[in-house]
Amino acid sequence: MDKELKEAVTARRADMIALCQDLIRIPTRNPPGENYREICDYLDRRLARVGFDTHLIRANGAPGDSERYPRWNIIARREGKSPGECVHFNSHIDVVEVGHGWTFDPFGGTVADGKIHGRGACDMKGGLAASIIAVEAFIATCPDYTGAIEISGTADEESGGFGGVAYLAENGWFAPERVQHVIIPEPLGKDRICLGHRGVWWAEVETKGEIAHGSMPFLGDCAVRHMGAVLDEMERSLFPALAAKRTDMPVVPDGAKQSTLNINSIHGGASEQALDYTGLPSPCVPDHCRIVIDRRFLIEERIEDVEAEIRALLDGLSETRARFDYDIRELHRVLPSMTEKTAPIVATVASAIETVLGAAPDYVVSPGTYDQKHIDRIGKLKNCIAYGPGILDLAHKPDEYVGIDDMEQSAQVMALSLAALLMPEGT
Ligand SMILES: [Zn+2]
Repeated sequence: MDKELKEAVTARRADMIALCQDLIRIPTRNPPGENYREICDYLDRRLARVGFDTHLIRANGAPGDSERYPRWNIIARREGKSPGECVHFNSHIDVVEVGHGWTFDPFGGTVADGKIHGRGACDMKGGLAASIIAVEAFIATCPDYTGAIEISGTADEESGGFGGVAYLAENGWFAPERVQHVIIPEPLGKDRICLGHRGVWWAEVETKGEIAHGSMPFLGDCAVRHMGAVLDEMERSLFPALAAKRTDMPVVPDGAKQSTLNINSIHGGASEQALDYTGLPSPCVPDHCRIVIDRRFLIEERIEDVEAEIRALLDGLSETRARFDYDIRELHRVLPSMTEKTAPIVATVASAIETVLGAAPDYVVSPGTYDQKHIDRIGKLKNCIAYGPGILDLAHKPDEYVGIDDMEQSAQVMALSLAALLMPEGT
């Protein structure tokens, strides 16, 4: 059976390339979130052809959803011959902006040197195409499977997934009684299983001052200097403390195996003028300064402690620094997610990787989050991994590509995993 399944995938190689090219040629840039309906209609036609029942679902009222840029999603389900478990493949259909530095047409899907090029080739239209080919090869080879197969194409992963997986999970589409196994074909590599991701805490910190004439700063209070003290304290105490917090999560790359903090932006004093403004600024002492911080935390940390650590730093400055006053506002939070290595989907995909590639997989955890957070936290489904073709480092870069051999081999792994989960023993 393994051999037949692998051959059925290989026989569809040209189809897989054409499918991936078609998906790349529908530009689904997010923001603003364009052409979601077009790509869902394309997937609808493709999956209906092989017997899937399809549902097109708009995330009405989700962030970014509008008449001009509606947040469309597709969920397709195909029942087997008898009742059993459901295996779900979830791919996001959005891609990030193009940016500069391309030598290929970003929406051309050009094939060169065994690779398909284009925005989203690796993240993650290559994975979506591979999962569809895996499912089609499996259905043709094992028409009497039990349970059900689902494929979803979901919006807005690149902007938090609120108009995509979060909306669907809130509406019960990922409830454990209807879906038991989830594979997200994000580009983690054909020989790696991604178990989850670190947590996120974003906040805006504002220091306060008092406006005065710039020639007499002693009559005011400079909010930018207060922020300078915040940044200085972070350098002295916070960054070393974060570097010392190491995790047992197998996060890649190595630099992310600890807590991290990024200062995302800083703004203080008068607003910047337009580039074509030729006048001078007016002399004022800034009465406010704001930073946005992006704190990534570990499964060993509690989000309450992450927040308390920043507050303690700021409260410390209130005690030692005259007139220091601040506000802090949470912008966004995601708890870490990590599926157990012993979960059925992990064990199944690991043994399929061994069969196809001849070696055991590496287990990794992503430094940033992806839609697993919603499946875990809202859907309450713990049996979820990311597994798919492509090189993670190429995501969001110019000349992004996915290797065709990698797609084919990961499609074989997915097809074998379906057989292990949905074919009754001994057939
Ligand atoms: Zn992605």
